[in-house]
Amino acid sequence: MISEIGANLKDGAEVIDAGGRIVSPGFMDMHFHLDSVLTMGDPRYNESGTLLEGIEIWAERKRKLSVSDIVQRAGKALRLMVAHGTTAIRTHADVTDPTLTTVKGLLEVKKLYQNIIDVQITAFPQDGILTDPANLELLEKAVEMGVDNVGMIPHIEHTREDGVKSIEEAFRIAKTYDRDIDGHVDETDDEQSRFLEVVASYAIKENYVGRVAAGHCTAMHSYNDAYAAKLYRLLKKAGVTVVANPLINIHLQGRFDTYPKRRGMARVKELLNNGVNVALGHDCIMDPWYPLGRGDMVQVLFMAVHVGQLMSYSELKQAFNLITYNAAKTLRIGDKYGIKVGAQADLVVLDAFDELEALAFQRTPLYVIKRGRIVSKNTPEETQVLNPENNQFTNPRKEQPILRR
Ligand SMILES: [Zn+2]
Repeated sequence: MISEIGANLKDGAEVIDAGGRIVSPGFMDMHFHLDSVLTMGDPRYNESGTLLEGIEIWAERKRKLSVSDIVQRAGKALRLMVAHGTTAIRTHADVTDPTLTTVKGLLEVKKLYQNIIDVQITAFPQDGILTDPANLELLEKAVEMGVDNVGMIPHIEHTREDGVKSIEEAFRIAKTYDRDIDGHVDETDDEQSRFLEVVASYAIKENYVGRVAAGHCTAMHSYNDAYAAKLYRLLKKAGVTVVANPLINIHLQGRFDTYPKRRGMARVKELLNNGVNVALGHDCIMDPWYPLGRGDMVQVLFMAVHVGQLMSYSELKQAFNLITYNAAKTLRIGDKYGIKVGAQADLVVLDAFDELEALAFQRTPLYVIKRGRIVSKNTPEETQVLNPENNQFTNPRKEQPILRR
């Protein structure tokens, strides 16, 4: 943990000279799917680019899952994330596979990587809780096996009524086993999909204020403004964190539209302005739902500020909260998180002199520190560009900071 902050600290400690660059508390990814990561093209590619085709392809792929297959792919992805400064992640484990191999695999990954990155697992009923009689039982069994949070996907249930009932069941299990709620909620362009209000209302009724995260919430993009205004107030009161996944939803949403095409992302700017906690997720890397990604939350943030138009100077300066402090609030570890004495020493030494540069250049961090130990280090490549002012090759990275402010 951070024991002291200041100049000329105790001798004997390893010194990292950041040369005036910024240090951030570790980045946090609040929504990811480690079980499906890096399976793209196996058994086939998603040609329509829709959520639904992604779910179909995954249903085929998950029949041949094994623990070692998951450990190997998830480990690869986690190492990429650590290299880019992520020190904590919340992943989903699909629990509609009757063998629960996803849960076994991810519990093993969590343990194996525990000193490198904190992994929280959510039991995620990908195909719905009530669409098959076995699914509810599997969800509860996954929680008994030791996952951290209870998931849901009400917009995939067959009817509105089943969607509401699935939320009720998720809260029942969460309360029974004292787990937090981490749902996929309203990930559709259907403006009639209004499960988020039900989730928020249960958070209040079940005494779960501050213990609920709702991922995606893309239908919110299409709600009318009067309803959205009501929803902001309810979400704030319920202490629900909205987790937006801009890389994936800018790709998957609006696929049934012609033009103008909707962007299909939760209203990040308005939620923040109305006092709702918002965090971000990478969601996927090279799987049936998303063909790209490099495990970099700054890249996720880059997409978020563009799609959400959080591009004023002050908005950009504060944007890093979406992948740091707001996420810590979601995990309810705010008192142990940050750059302050007594906080856990999860730190990222960025190759940038301020937040704007970090977002503009998206460079790999120089160092990543987990609980006081270096877990990633990076030597920036020596780029040499011909400078006509003096006819010499120079490294543009050494001309930092690029703006004099
Ligand atoms: Zn997801």
